Amino acid sequence: MDTHPAATSGPAAATSRPLPAPARKSVLHDLEQTRLAIEMIGLGARLQVLEAEVSLPRERLTRLYKELRGASPPKGMLPFSTDWFLAWRPNAHASMLLGAYRFMIRAGHLDGIRATLAAFRMYREHLCVTGEVAQLSFTRAWMLVRFYERGMLQLARCQCCRGEFVVCAHAARQRYICGLCLPPARAGKCRRPGPAGA
Ligand SMILES: [Zn+2]
Repeated sequence: MDTHPAATSGPAAATSRPLPAPARKSVLHDLEQTRLAIEMIGLGARLQVLEAEVSLPRERLTRLYKELRGASPPKGMLPFSTDWFLAWRPNAHASMLLGAYRFMIRAGHLDGIRATLAAFRMYREHLCVTGEVAQLSFTRAWMLVRFYERGMLQLARCQCCRGEFVVCAHAARQRYICGLCLPPARAGKCRRPGPAGA
């Protein structure tokens, strides 16, 4: 006994699919994307980051970059290593940024690049207050969010201070103690961290 194929009959079947939306090239969309690019370039985004987030042609982005920064965008690869975020000092900063990013999603109802931008601003404002030197460029912050969203980096809760810190996705995290509660021996030798336990 054969089963009847699903309802694909009818003369309209072949033409009833919605037309693929033509690339939305409205003036407003263009403007909005240009503003986004300007905002990102202002924060120091690399060209590859712009290309990934802004739907404008590469030439436009390059021109915009040159006009705003007065120089050609730097060449070379983006920093692709997750290890960088695990070193002691960058880890404290990365954890702060990722905390801000999650806050922007949860409480600010932002997502994607908007959440990243807002988190990066919050991170920089925090540094202004504490006077600490920035560890994360915008591009690093963007990479960090990417690694996190792809599950390559995660957050773990410190058993000691209860703060959440960036850890490698496959690291064993039972009884995890963060780098601020248990700094490596050499961390204190060069320079004391800014506000203890921040
Ligand atoms: Zn801790």
